[in-house]
Amino acid sequence: MSALGYFDNPWALKIDLMLRGIRVVDPLAKAWACGTSGIDMLLPEETLVNIPCREEFTERSPYELRKREETHYITDGVSEMNAEILPMPEFYSRKTTTGVPFGDIAVVHGSYTVITPSPKCDFFDTDSECRYCTLNKNIDGVPKRDFTVEEVLEAVGVVLKEGLSKIIYLSVGFTEGDDGGIEFLSPYIKAIKKHYSCLLAVEALPPKKNRWIDDTYALGADSILYNMGIFDAELFEVICPGRSRLVGRKRYLDALKYAVGIFPNGTVASHLIVGLEPPGSTRIGIDYLTGMGVVPILPIYRPRAGRTLRIEPLTTEIIIPVFKHLYTAVKKSGVNFKWVRDISMVTTPAEASMLMEGAESEMSLLKNLYGSHLGLKAAWGLSTIRRKLRVKNGDK
Ligand code: SF4
Repeated sequence: MSALGYFDNPWALKIDLMLRGIRVVDPLAKAWACGTSGIDMLLPEETLVNIPCREEFTERSPYELRKREETHYITDGVSEMNAEILPMPEFYSRKTTTGVPFGDIAVVHGSYTVITPSPKCDFFDTDSECRYCTLNKNIDGVPKRDFTVEEVLEAVGVVLKEGLSKIIYLSVGFTEGDDGGIEFLSPYIKAIKKHYSCLLAVEALPPKKNRWIDDTYALGADSILYNMGIFDAELFEVICPGRSRLVGRKRYLDALKYAVGIFPNGTVASHLIVGLEPPGSTRIGIDYLTGMGVVPILPIYRPRAGRTLRIEPLTTEIIIPVFKHLYTAVKKSGVNFKWVRDISMVTTPAEASMLMEGAESEMSLLKNLYGSHLGLKAAWGLSTIRRKLRVKNGDK
């Protein structure tokens, strides 16, 4: 067993890799697979993980990616685990008919693909910007335009046709207005649902008025995420000054609660970023959200050069009990967590089950449900029928 002790459980190793990153010394592998948002790898037991590999802190990681003959493996110098590199999709190098690289529009992460149709957020380059945000690509000072509905549709078509992902995740930044960004997203949501039979998750800001939450569901979103990021009230104010002032922590909680009454069980979710607040505070957030019927998803904070937001000390020994708590709380609350799975950037309640000694494998249950094309089609069909009934009956 390794001195670090995580090589006997790929799920625990996943957490340690997400926390500490990996050194990719082979220049070929680095160029081929290590993107700005990390390297996607498949560990044993079909454990998807996105591992930081370019940030400064990864240079001190005990983990290194090596290759023996045709097989890649991760080692700490003592132990090792085979790991398959998921190469950056080939379609990244291709372009839409309008000449936009597909990789600018869609980022594939395991079974889901993130599309942000507008590169803008009103907080960018102001003192309102969330301190941990990595979405501001406005580095050259040249304003970026929104992608058209047709460009996004073309990208979704390629992703689905090539079987790269099964879930499309649409996200939007902050804009003034009472709709939380849904008015802007609505033609994209409608067009995707009209042309493709895929599951669609939407990440937006909590709208000021609840009717936008009804609309989000009626338009075709299968899942909604209002990502708090931080549960602690004071830290939320300091780290997310714009969202704290112009949306408000209370509105996040109220909107999530309302959405639980509109969307199917287990499809309303919120990120709590591990490492931006004390673990005890994340646990309180988990209890609060699951108590409302919301699925907490726990990404691990990736420090960037010059940003020292991380709560220290932060180790995998400290984090694992938080993930175990997530699993216990979700099970206790009866929230269905089958919709949120296989998300390589983050760790979901289903994956947390794999950290529990003697726990039944929730992941294998989920694989049976959504692993096949048929399973996914069934899920899509059920969601469409349910939406039609709900919207028709005005059932809220
Ligand atoms: S609202 Fe979202 S996009 Fe805007 S600064 Fe905050 S995290 Fe970034």
